[in-house]
Amino acid sequence: MTYVGRFAPSPTGPLHFGSLVAAVGSYLDARASGGAWLLRMEDLDPPREVPGAAEDMLKTLEILGFQWDSLLKQSSRLEAYAEAAERLVRDGAAFPCACSRREIADSSVRGIEGPVYPGTCRAGLPPGRNTQALRLKAPAETLCFQDRLQGRICQQLARDIGDFIIRRADGCFAYQLAVVVDDAYQGITHVVRGADLLLSTPRQILLQRLLGHPTPVYIHLPVAVDRNGEKLSKQTGAEALDLSRPAQTLWRALRFLRQEPPAGLEEAGLAELWAWAIEHWDMEILNGVREHAID
Ligand code: GLU
Repeated sequence: MTYVGRFAPSPTGPLHFGSLVAAVGSYLDARASGGAWLLRMEDLDPPREVPGAAEDMLKTLEILGFQWDSLLKQSSRLEAYAEAAERLVRDGAAFPCACSRREIADSSVRGIEGPVYPGTCRAGLPPGRNTQALRLKAPAETLCFQDRLQGRICQQLARDIGDFIIRRADGCFAYQLAVVVDDAYQGITHVVRGADLLLSTPRQILLQRLLGHPTPVYIHLPVAVDRNGEKLSKQTGAEALDLSRPAQTLWRALRFLRQEPPAGLEEAGLAELWAWAIEHWDMEILNGVREHAID
C-alpha cells in the first residue's frame, strides 16, 4: 500500500508542544508504514501570520531531527484554490454572500462552532448588496466517517455547522477549502493530526466529494491540554519547546503519545530515539483518547 502522510502547520507563532505532538504522530505513522512524509506550510492567512514564524518552524523541525520529503507553501497555491472555489460556485454548491459577521450573529441559531448561517444569500444576493465572501451550502444529510482512533464520527452539517465560508470577505481562502485542494494535490493518503480538528473533517469530506477527490484515512490524535483541561495554544501560554536538548523534547512528545521508550534512550541521542520510535510505533494504545494532560 502506498502511504503519503503530511504535517501542515500554520505559521502563526513558534511550534509549540501541541503541534509537535501532531508532527511526531504523523511522522511516526508514515515512517513506520514505509511511507512518505510531506510538509505543508499553511501560510494562507497573512493577517494572522507572524513574520519569520514559518522559517522558525522549519528550523525547529530540523533541530528535532525530522526529515521531510517535500515542502509546499500554500501561499504559492492561490490559483488552485480560486479555481476550486469557482467550480463550486458554478456547480451551485457554493454561493456569494453579502452578509457581515454582525448580521449573521444577530439573526442566528448557534451550532457547534458558532452561529449557523441563516441562509440570507443562498438564493441570490439581496438587491444592492455586493459579494463579501463565498459560502458552501451545508447539506441536510448526516455525514459520517470512521476515524482510526476516534471511531465513527457523524455530523449533521446543516444543523451543526451551517453554510460555511470557503473564501473570506478579505479574499483569503478558508482553511477548509485549501486543505482539501492540497491534500488531493499532494496525494495524501493518511491525515494524522490533533483531535481539535475532528469537527472540521466532515466539512472536508463534503468538499472532497464535491470536487471529486478521494477521502484519505483519518487519524485524530489526542490533544495536549493543561491541568485545567484547557487546550495548549499560544494564547494559553504554551511554553516554547526546549531546543537545547532536542532528544528530551522528542522524549516528552513520545511519552505524551503513550509510547514507552526504554530508560537510557533519552541520553542516547536523537537518531537512536527516532529509530526506536519508528520501529515501535504503537498507535492502538491511543484508541479513543481525545485529550490528555501533559506532565
Ligand atoms: N494548519 C492547521 C493547523 O495548524 C492544520 C491542518 C491539518 O492538519 O489539517 O491547525
